[in-house]
Amino acid sequence: MKDYKAYIAGNAVEADEWIDVTNPYNGEVVGRVPSLGADHLEAAVRETHLSGHEVLSRYQRSEILNKAMQRLQDRASEFSRLITSEAGLCVRESRYEVGRASDVLQFAAMEALKDDGQVFSCDLTPHGKARKIFTLREPVRCVGSITPFNHPLNQVAHKVAPAIAAGAPTILKPSLKTPLTALLFAEMLYECGLPGWMLSVLTGPDAIIAEGIVRHPDIDLISFTGSEKIGKRISKEAGYKKLVLELGGNDPLIILEDADLDLAVKLACEGSFRNSGQRCTAVKRILVEKSILDEFVSGFVELASTYRCGDPADPQTLVGTVIDEQAAMVLEERVRAAEKAGARVLLGGSRHGALMEPTVIVDVPRDAEMVVRESFGPLAPVLAVDDLNDAIELTNSTAYGLSSGIVTRDLHKAIEAVKRLRVGTCNINEVPGYRIECSPFGGIKDSGLGIKEGVIEAMKFMTNVKTFSLPW
Ligand code: NAP
Repeated sequence: MKDYKAYIAGNAVEADEWIDVTNPYNGEVVGRVPSLGADHLEAAVRETHLSGHEVLSRYQRSEILNKAMQRLQDRASEFSRLITSEAGLCVRESRYEVGRASDVLQFAAMEALKDDGQVFSCDLTPHGKARKIFTLREPVRCVGSITPFNHPLNQVAHKVAPAIAAGAPTILKPSLKTPLTALLFAEMLYECGLPGWMLSVLTGPDAIIAEGIVRHPDIDLISFTGSEKIGKRISKEAGYKKLVLELGGNDPLIILEDADLDLAVKLACEGSFRNSGQRCTAVKRILVEKSILDEFVSGFVELASTYRCGDPADPQTLVGTVIDEQAAMVLEERVRAAEKAGARVLLGGSRHGALMEPTVIVDVPRDAEMVVRESFGPLAPVLAVDDLNDAIELTNSTAYGLSSGIVTRDLHKAIEAVKRLRVGTCNINEVPGYRIECSPFGGIKDSGLGIKEGVIEAMKFMTNVKTFSLPW
């Protein structure tokens, strides 16, 4: 067990009280973090705004990010082990997550070097003049970032790396369920030359630190990833600020009768069970055309039964724990409730502590809680649909609109799905979660305000456009 320090503008801080972080698989305390107070938040904001901080040059930003990418790759095993021990995600997932975070750093390093200005000639109409208007982007004064537990490193990287690339200082509050990886990442960034004032990482009670960040008048922008419940609360409390809300999802994988069934089965398993089903874009509903339902289900159960669930630190494990026992209990209760309503569990369905078995469940009523709400774990409800139209209407009927996947060989149907699904992303013959780290990402409806993340979009949002004009 190790004591981790929080950081105010690069300076390590402790506190009188500590918060334990436990391994969800075996209950061992992995480390503890200081429980900071309002004074610490004030100090972090003050340090960020101290006069004399020069915006780093594009070269400096890019160098820091490149160095961090290299250092992260060198220390991949250490980061992977820490993610696995504090989040219960199996080694396959924690290794993958380190790779993704390295990509985020790479893209941010590249983007930092690109000019982002535009030029407008003014002599375009009879009312024009011999002038030119130029645009430039200036970083906001301070970004407040709040991250969830399910990707302890990659979510943090997606907030901090674009901010560095854009030249904007950040105050970060990671989830107290998985704060250790965020603190190790910050330490590594300072070692790579990031000036302290560019990043503070604060740990402490949500009512003081998280809500304090949201309401603080000197924090210009809140970048939040987490649940719909907290996201909507933030939108009420933040007031006059820029706001990115990346919230929950309930993504479908739609499988049409002309689909490559082997591919459909593979995508259903990977989409439902990776990261213990705890991805905002995990497959939460598998909508299958009736004519191929039986054939799909038998292949799905066969492959799903090979997704070994167990000790996250064992390299053979494919599904580790969910974040804690309480979360597993909620999932198990949803399975029991669906069974009472007529559903049949064909695989899994039970939990052992925080380990929730990969669960395949059929005949699930369309209004079951498991289907209507986000079930953040490895549950795979299979629902029969009449045709594409039925699948689209069912998809659009829930409150969420994050992502989607459709498996079909018919290009016309694929295009119809892209046009009619009310979501932020539609992937053809892929899982809903597929993306690269610099492409635009984010949802609509209860999944978000439609403001995208991904390195490029996040950098745009973390800057303000200024125009200036010159006689020409
Ligand atoms: P959560 O409970 O909403 O927590 C998210 C963050 O908000 C954590 O750091 C949490 O701190 C903090 N928080 C708690 N109370 C707060 C308050 N009153 N004001 C401000 N912040 C507060 O979400 P989670 O359970 O960690 O994450 C799972 C959810 O995130 C799922 O719904 C998932 O779909 C969503 N998610 C969305 C995306 C996306 O890009 N759309 C990506 C990943 C995850 P503590 O944890 O320390 O309490």
